[in-house]
Amino acid sequence: MEVRDRYAPSPTGLQHVGGLRTALFNYLFAKSQNGKFILRLEDTDRTRFDKAYVDNLYSTFEWLGFHWDEGPDTGGPYAPYVQSERSIVYKKYAHSLVENGAAYYCFCSAERLDAVRREREAAHSSESGYDRHCRNMAPDEAAARAVTEPHTIRLKIPLGEKTLFNDALLGSVEWKNDDVSPDPVLLKSDGFPTYHLANVVDDHLMGITHILRAQEWLSSTPLHIILYRAFGWEPPLFCHLPMVMGQDGKKLSKRHGAASIDEFRKNGILPDTLVNYVALLGASYEEGKEIYTLDELCARFSLEKLNKAPAVFDYKKLEWYNAQYIRMKTDAALAALALPFAVQTGLFGAPGSQPSAKQLSLFNAAIPLVKERAVFLCEIPEKLAYLFSEPSVPEAAEFIPKKSSLEEARRLLSIGRELAAPIAGTDDEGAEKLAKEKAEKEGLKLVELLTPLRVAVTGSRVSPPLFGSIRLLGAESSLTRIDRALEKLNLP
Ligand code: GLU
Ligand code: ZN
Repeated sequence: MEVRDRYAPSPTGLQHVGGLRTALFNYLFAKSQNGKFILRLEDTDRTRFDKAYVDNLYSTFEWLGFHWDEGPDTGGPYAPYVQSERSIVYKKYAHSLVENGAAYYCFCSAERLDAVRREREAAHSSESGYDRHCRNMAPDEAAARAVTEPHTIRLKIPLGEKTLFNDALLGSVEWKNDDVSPDPVLLKSDGFPTYHLANVVDDHLMGITHILRAQEWLSSTPLHIILYRAFGWEPPLFCHLPMVMGQDGKKLSKRHGAASIDEFRKNGILPDTLVNYVALLGASYEEGKEIYTLDELCARFSLEKLNKAPAVFDYKKLEWYNAQYIRMKTDAALAALALPFAVQTGLFGAPGSQPSAKQLSLFNAAIPLVKERAVFLCEIPEKLAYLFSEPSVPEAAEFIPKKSSLEEARRLLSIGRELAAPIAGTDDEGAEKLAKEKAEKEGLKLVELLTPLRVAVTGSRVSPPLFGSIRLLGAESSLTRIDRALEKLNLP
């Protein structure tokens, strides 16, 4: 049997970590079984639908770099993969359930349902949901009224029974039918399906064999199983994935930090980072191995590797992954990834302005200076700003090494000045040698000698490597900066 699974988002919000986890696990499971991964848009809730969310779905997965085998954009043997284009199918299947007695017409008005609710409230009744008013109407009478009167179609939940199913992760799950939502609507009065009907009909018609979905759907599953049985269909195998929590044990949300994939992207998290980290939310692969490519994950994924316990989303760990992935990029690849951030923040002029050829080659050449230190792509332009425009000369105090004086800082910088041109003309190794010789000759510690020089050239005590900076700026520009600093230190 070919494995077929799916990601079935409702486009009512931006793609977030939870959705990515569901999509990714379905993708990995399908690929690990040589099966098919399908995208289906569950857009039956027209009041919350927004096309922007559909666009966000496509752009997110394009950026993440993994795709479905069948879907609205790719097509496939079960098209259309968009529920709003399949209304006629759901109507037909809802009516087939009325015919076989598993569902019935309900003619209750919104006013009547509201009155029932209010009466119960006044009587402090614990009952909720539909009171099954139309459940026992004679089928002939109901069919005759349905020709002219507005109606919904409701599922006739078999009462006094239990529904059992075997969850691949949670094991056997048992639910009393009396605790399932009382005879839920399958087809609304406007002829549109509810989520439950469309979801079950599509999973069956699209040949879905496995449903990996978030645990918050667990309470809908007994109802779905009842629906499969009502149709006489074999349900797929369900696997409810562990919850994703923030570090406070609450469901992950905006309160914890970025949760939408767009936000991570804007902060300069790499797609590789997200895929790798999210693949570990609720699954363990190999002891001690933390870095996985998508292919490695496909080869290792299995339902046995899922954890029952909730997964905790750790932003610090995500940052660690990002720093690792930044270091693994080639300089050219990292430059290309960081360039849009540089353009946007105005590294090359006004925000949005593109680099000149000279600026671009400086940017590319400067990438090795920040590669080992950057955690987010968006920090890269900020860290390199001093190379593109001369920073203002820091306060004199900045130049003074620990337990030293202004006079000493001045002297150290004058000595350091002599190093600028030779350093600009050599490589790191050569520069290191020159600096050490100089320090020794003057009876100084290397850091003492270099601190004022670093502040003068880069505008800060904490900066990317000094020798590389001098080399990229060139002797002339480095000397200009040093001289301006000396001027400031010489002021009374
Ligand atoms: N449309 C549902 C959602 O938004 C799908 C639930 C399922 O996977 O069955 O999550
Ligand atoms: Zn009714």
